[in-house]
Amino acid sequence: MQNPGASEPLATAVYADRLARARAQMRDKGIDVLLLSLGLDLPYITGYHAMPLERLTMLVVPLDGEARMVIPRMEAARVTPQPGVFEVLPWGETEDPVEIVARLARESGSAKTVAIGDQMWARFLVELLPRLPGAQYRRADVVTSMRMAKDAAEIAALAAAGAAVDRIAAQLQAGHIELVGRTEAEVSADLGERILAEGHQVVNFAIVAAGENAASPHHSPGDRVIRRNEILLCDFGGTMNGYCSDITRCVYLGTPPAEITEAYAVLHEAQQAAVAAGTVGTPCQEVDRVARRIITDAGFGDYFFHRTGHGIGMEAHEDPYMVEGNSLPLAAGHAFSVEPGIYMEGRWGMRLEDIVVATDGGPLSLNNARHELVSIDV
Ligand code: ZN
Ligand code: ZN
Ligand code: ZN
Repeated sequence: MQNPGASEPLATAVYADRLARARAQMRDKGIDVLLLSLGLDLPYITGYHAMPLERLTMLVVPLDGEARMVIPRMEAARVTPQPGVFEVLPWGETEDPVEIVARLARESGSAKTVAIGDQMWARFLVELLPRLPGAQYRRADVVTSMRMAKDAAEIAALAAAGAAVDRIAAQLQAGHIELVGRTEAEVSADLGERILAEGHQVVNFAIVAAGENAASPHHSPGDRVIRRNEILLCDFGGTMNGYCSDITRCVYLGTPPAEITEAYAVLHEAQQAAVAAGTVGTPCQEVDRVARRIITDAGFGDYFFHRTGHGIGMEAHEDPYMVEGNSLPLAAGHAFSVEPGIYMEGRWGMRLEDIVVATDGGPLSLNNARHELVSIDV
């Protein structure tokens, strides 16, 4: 079984450069060994996507000396060798892989500070802790910060995925997707097929929420039949060549009443202002504040109860988060969603979402499907 959505491995030089930068940060932060298991830090550094198995896969990166990938023997053939970046160290079914990792960590020197990737299974960490007595542990945030700043190839991949979901949003807004009389689940499945048809390898989600269901931001599409004279919220995305898309558009099935048009005008203004605020050097929380201020001033503050956005890249949600309390300044290459919403429980909801990249030339929106509340005459 291959990992669908996994990108083809890049040139060895790309991984060698990423590993060198990770090591430079390890040196700055006093990290002696970096341990990466599941999750996307591993493929970011090595090109290898480990399946989430009960058998341990672990990249052991000592500050000095060879990086080694400890991997089940039966998985080793799936690794594309990256000579000079890491060595493959297969383990057999009766060996204890945690002991192998512990030994490599001990050999790397004093192994005083060990950085652990976020998605290592707890069972392996629990087994590892007593085998490295005296070690200190911390999260592997060295890779997190590198992954936030996308290079040109990564931005191109995000842009291609964004253009693909834009085409689907355009189909929705043009009335080319049958809505009235179908269930949310049917329309969700339809969006999923279109996500694949437009070039993604994986569907990550396709939220379809009609009328009062749109007041629940992560509504799971169900048997509810979509009717005339209500709002329909669609939030969908997938993974294309290793990078994610994520877009939200709402349509109104008929002529929207003034209450909806007025609220949507506020949402639209807030979203566009927050996109414009996404400039290099601006703290992430300021992007949230800009959207929230406009929505609050219009009297909807209590009805916008989630952060304004999340980072996006190899994962659909990753650092940096556009949320109060995150003072991290945006840097060139940071990619993130801007997705304020207004949710009236039991009645209706609306959200507008684009993916934006901070660049030296200003914020670059990767989604350009119409931003208005398109009314579909039914
Ligand atoms: Zn979400
Ligand atoms: Zn979304
Ligand atoms: Zn999102």
